[in-house]
Amino acid sequence: MKILSVNCGSSSLKFQMYEMPEEKVLISGVFERIGIGESFYTIKFNGEKTKVEATLDNHKTAFEILIKELLDRKVVANLDEIKGIGHRVVQGGTYFDKTVVVDEDVLAKIEELCVLAPLHNPAAIIGINAAKEVVPGAVQTVVFDTAFHQTMAEENYLYALPYDWCEKYRIRRYGAHGTSHKYITKRMSELLNRDDLKLIICHIGNGASISAVKDGKCVNTSMGLTPNAGLIMGSRCGDIDATILTYLMDKENISAKEMDRILNKESGLLGISGVSSDSRDIEDGIAAGNVRCELAQTMYVKRIVDYIAKYYVELEGCDAIVFTAGVGENSKNTRMQVMERLAVLGIKPDSEANDVRGEERVITATDSTVPCYIVPTDEEVMIARDTYELI
Ligand code: ADP
Repeated sequence: MKILSVNCGSSSLKFQMYEMPEEKVLISGVFERIGIGESFYTIKFNGEKTKVEATLDNHKTAFEILIKELLDRKVVANLDEIKGIGHRVVQGGTYFDKTVVVDEDVLAKIEELCVLAPLHNPAAIIGINAAKEVVPGAVQTVVFDTAFHQTMAEENYLYALPYDWCEKYRIRRYGAHGTSHKYITKRMSELLNRDDLKLIICHIGNGASISAVKDGKCVNTSMGLTPNAGLIMGSRCGDIDATILTYLMDKENISAKEMDRILNKESGLLGISGVSSDSRDIEDGIAAGNVRCELAQTMYVKRIVDYIAKYYVELEGCDAIVFTAGVGENSKNTRMQVMERLAVLGIKPDSEANDVRGEERVITATDSTVPCYIVPTDEEVMIARDTYELI
């Protein structure tokens, strides 16, 4: 059965088509700069990557081109072969704790939740509507980034604000990257051949979050109401004293909107280093003797360690610590620095095993109290699996 996994951003559309249940990727690609000019798309098919410049006025045009590519390349013989389209949605609020089939009510709820994810949910709605128009016969599903975190207890998801406000404005910790945390949870169950695991999962990419997982369920996670909370990220500040905002808005005479932009786009590694949000540039800066890059990396690693320590206590120990996503899979330095700072817990890195990029493996010595793993994440296959199961 052919299933399309789709991730729509405000100006992008990423896709992978799978043959299910084999989970074979048939074709993948990304449409970029939709609606903002100089648009193009890249497609990976049969081991070859092609880039095509195209006028992409909106997501519907991108879907139409995508379908034409599928037909021209004979990935499908006709549209009826596409049985399901799974869409990634960032915010599902308290409505959704699992993947669901799209209907009018589901769409209305995603729309209602746009206030909590103003950059992301509207793009998903545009994508769903475009897919419905272009492939009306396919079952459309929505896979929520927040769903996996809906198992958190009240004491972990509530903020100590006036309770009425928490209710009225739905202020709580929702978390993010849930599809990735769920994928890693399942993969670790397969690797260790057990479901009753205590896991600390470090999804460290440009955006980053850590989850504490027990018996397959999320107990706590570092992202909050929005993906700004928790770890220091590429350009997001992570946890800070909330009154810094009111103080700075007053001093700099800036609006809430502008403050929001600075917290999300000009902070984190970029803010401290003044160089870049990309950890590769930070590593290059350190090699060149840039002290602010060094400081940014030290703070970045320290925050990861703080969260691992917090969740280690919360879970009362753990069976494995997992590194995933761009930095987690690729940066041996960041992983090494995190593991070295966890020596107090009896964690012993194996520097040779850790000297690798994007490969699933154990990176600690055999006598480490807790094994650390690299497990490459795969959010797209999780979307395809959920969609396939629903169909
Ligand atoms: P997101 O999905 O949040 O945009 P990714 O998980 O794709 O992010 O991670 C992207 C980040 O991974 C880059 O910004 C970069 O910092 C980091 N990264 C990728 N490759 C390497 C590498 N070889 N060494 C260090 N960091 C890397």
